[in-house]
Amino acid sequence: MSLPNLLDFDAAQLTAWFAAVGEKPFRAVQLLRWMHRYGETDFAAMTNLARSLREKLPTLATITPPALLSARRASDGTRKFLFDIGGGNAVESVFIPEAGYGALCVSTQAGCALDCAFCSTGKQGFSRNLGVGEIIGQLWQANKALGRDPKGERVISNVVLMGMGEPLANFDNSVTAIRLMLDDNAYGLSRRRVTVSTAGLVPAIDRLREECPVALAISLHAPDDALRDTLVPINKKYPLANLMAACRRYLEKAPRDFVTFEYVLIDGVNDREQDAKALISLTRQVSCKFNMIPFNPFPGSSYRRSRPDHIRRFVDILLRAGIITTVRRTRGDAIDAACGQLVGQIRNKTRRIAQTTRNMLEEQIS
Ligand code: SAH
Repeated sequence: MSLPNLLDFDAAQLTAWFAAVGEKPFRAVQLLRWMHRYGETDFAAMTNLARSLREKLPTLATITPPALLSARRASDGTRKFLFDIGGGNAVESVFIPEAGYGALCVSTQAGCALDCAFCSTGKQGFSRNLGVGEIIGQLWQANKALGRDPKGERVISNVVLMGMGEPLANFDNSVTAIRLMLDDNAYGLSRRRVTVSTAGLVPAIDRLREECPVALAISLHAPDDALRDTLVPINKKYPLANLMAACRRYLEKAPRDFVTFEYVLIDGVNDREQDAKALISLTRQVSCKFNMIPFNPFPGSSYRRSRPDHIRRFVDILLRAGIITTVRRTRGDAIDAACGQLVGQIRNKTRRIAQTTRNMLEEQIS
């Protein structure tokens, strides 16, 4: 049996693990700090542990972050990190620098089962859930690569669970990873700076509110059930009335007093004047902001990005209704880091990388 990976444990689980191997609870705090605050993976370097424990730990456990395959930087400062998670699967994180803060977008699944019509991850199908160590490991690796600013603050100040996969369909692992993000002995992020983005899994939104309320973003994309059923198929199970009610319940315990609605603007599909007007009445009961995302085309998709004048018209209608609305700048195009268009290229790239590795091995053994 393989040794447990200590990156898979939050504070409570690590405390229980230390108890099970006959060690004191405070060891968990020491280990969390070494692993997450200082990015240490070598037990021998953990100088405040008793020598005997330092020698014992490598026989009991490992500290294994996901393997970083590549880290690329676009001219606008966006960075894309690609991770090999074994079995021919790769996932990625994207770092987006903004004035005054930096957000890391992390993945929670390899592939996705929800199959939203406009999303390239969905087109690849679902491979598997990521483990806790694979989710927090993306932050671990990105922190190591990006480091601290001149004031000594970490460059990554915010995390959004908005990469590949549906975080609420991998609930336990996503929440355990979030607990580590919030833990002062690990990353110490405030609940307002960690955002879960979901296509709208209503029972899991309620569970999140009870177990670990953080900022919430909902991938809305349509103002009525008929259209949303075609774009976000999970809507058939949890239609808009239920979703809006879940948002209202969530806000009772949320660390922010609004929900963010994401809305991908697709030419002629959901960007008409009447769609914007219908959105206003749909969301009337929910304190919210809108984040409009011009559709990112990907090979094999027949959708097109909305025309700039239609984007402006749409946004104006929402703004005139008093709804705070922003349009996401398309970032990192040069490194294919824009949301939703990554996976096909990752897969191909992973295959290419796997191929190159195999070729290399063949050269070494021939
Ligand atoms: N499953 C979660 C998180 C992953 S999707 C969710 O649905 O929220 C992250 C965001 O990227 C979502 O808002 C999604 O709708 C958006 N997105 C997916 N494909 C896109 C594309 N081709 N162009 C623009 N945005 C896209």
